Amino acid sequence: MTTDRDTTTTLPHLKVIYTGGTIGMVQDIETGALKAFQFDYLREHVPELDQLHCTFDIEQCDPPIDSSAITPELWVWLGEMIQREMHEYDGFVILHGTDTMAYTASALSFMLQGLDRPVILTGSQLPIGRLRTDGKENLITAFEIALARRADGSPMIPEVAVYFEDDLYRGNRTLKYSAEHFEAFASPNYPHLAFAGIDIKYSPSAIGFDEPALSQAWRPAFDGHVVVLKLFPGLSASLLDHILHTPDLRGVVLETFGSGNAPTSEAFLSAIKGAVARGITIVNVTQCYSGSVVMGRYETGNVLSQTGVIGGSDMTTESATTKLMYLLAQDLSPEEVAHLMQVSLRGELTI
Ligand code: ASP
Repeated sequence: MTTDRDTTTTLPHLKVIYTGGTIGMVQDIETGALKAFQFDYLREHVPELDQLHCTFDIEQCDPPIDSSAITPELWVWLGEMIQREMHEYDGFVILHGTDTMAYTASALSFMLQGLDRPVILTGSQLPIGRLRTDGKENLITAFEIALARRADGSPMIPEVAVYFEDDLYRGNRTLKYSAEHFEAFASPNYPHLAFAGIDIKYSPSAIGFDEPALSQAWRPAFDGHVVVLKLFPGLSASLLDHILHTPDLRGVVLETFGSGNAPTSEAFLSAIKGAVARGITIVNVTQCYSGSVVMGRYETGNVLSQTGVIGGSDMTTESATTKLMYLLAQDLSPEEVAHLMQVSLRGELTI
């Protein structure tokens, strides 16, 4: 870890964690090739940071990880570090590849308990060292947001959020929706927390959530015995049944049609019912870009709710998956997991 902290000043102090991804690349002037840059030299590459009047420590994954290779171990590493060091810093900025940033943001939101300061994830579509990069603006604005305070001096954003191309979103409400545009993220079911134009305009009514009190301390762990299954017309019920009989399978995020609808054939329903009876938690989320599961709206959704499938409301697949992995790693009964999947733990769903 590197630090530029000057203990003789009272400047706000941030922690910057570079996990990997496009944002941390620079172009070698001689060869033109892209290479990972050492974040120790962040001030050299982004001298604009000097205008922000803060100090920061840098921690870097070695080697940096393309986010498509990220694992729950990295979420645990990040979450434990932030939980442990929460009171040493005024905020955290995590630089992350865009491909799975929404998963990491969601996983961290569930892991971090009693978070009272900003954890801002950002990345970029073009490396910092490239002409027309979006990396510098994303990085500088993420810093500004992590430093923002209310009139009473408390942090403006006391939650895990994603900043990308002018918008700040609640982390567990985001999804990556463009592999090409600078505007690569969206939060279809929840308003942005802030918009960065000439000024950064915060939306106070969207910021913050009630965190339920815990009856027990939760483990920083994720159970990987889950699958995400996207329904499509023609999905073979016997194949589905086969998948649901996978040894050690504990949870399924079922991406259904529209407001939570699925086929009503006997074979399909009995495969689902059988899995629920074997203790597998099945959560119903919509495969639509936006909107919510309302299982009673149509007969087809109603039938599904009678099998014991749980409604996932308007959670993103990313959020439902990481939440299920997190809850399944705790000492909870299937009934408790089912209940908690339908409760807002970190503002991830609309009740
Ligand atoms: N594949 C890269 C990653 O997610 C893409 C990016 O950084 O935008 O790490």
